[in-house]
Amino acid sequence: MSSTAETRTCLHCAREIEYIEADGQGAWYDSSNRTGCVDGEQPHAPEPLCGSCQDYGLIEIRHASTDGLIGHRPCDDPACTDRREKAAARAAEKHTGEMVIGSEEFGPQVCAECGWGGYTPVPGLYAQGRPVYVCTATGCGYRADVSAFELGDGERLAVHDGRLYLVRPYDGAPF
Ligand SMILES: [Zn+2]
Ligand SMILES: [Zn+2]
Ligand SMILES: [Zn+2]
Repeated sequence: MSSTAETRTCLHCAREIEYIEADGQGAWYDSSNRTGCVDGEQPHAPEPLCGSCQDYGLIEIRHASTDGLIGHRPCDDPACTDRREKAAARAAEKHTGEMVIGSEEFGPQVCAECGWGGYTPVPGLYAQGRPVYVCTATGCGYRADVSAFELGDGERLAVHDGRLYLVRPYDGAPF
């Protein structure tokens, strides 16, 4: 299996995708190893490169007579701007950050379906008196109740800033 180092943004779902080839057959894969978008069943496909900036987001400014490079300006191609905003919004939905608060370690719980978003409680929805969580990624909608999480000794679930974490006593070195 070979893989190009290059990642691109999916045209449909704005995930980061990477082209992976095996036995002469290749496909675009996302970080959770899927070849299809969650919203709709179409396969991931790379966005076309921006014709103005080749997706660098910056355009070179050259001196009118010497053609020397004198600076950069942000690419203002509307499709390019729109894509960068979508990619930034998408990146903000990614839920991977671990935290230590006081003497506890907060491990992010990542969606079992899309492998990208986190879980947040569904307001007012309970299963057997316990909260139900829904994925925070746009277009995913995967739900899980408390029974989907295996808790070890001394572990509990907690919501911080609207995202679900598995909390356990922190036993690493103190800061
Ligand atoms: Zn996609
Ligand atoms: Zn551009
Ligand atoms: Zn999800």
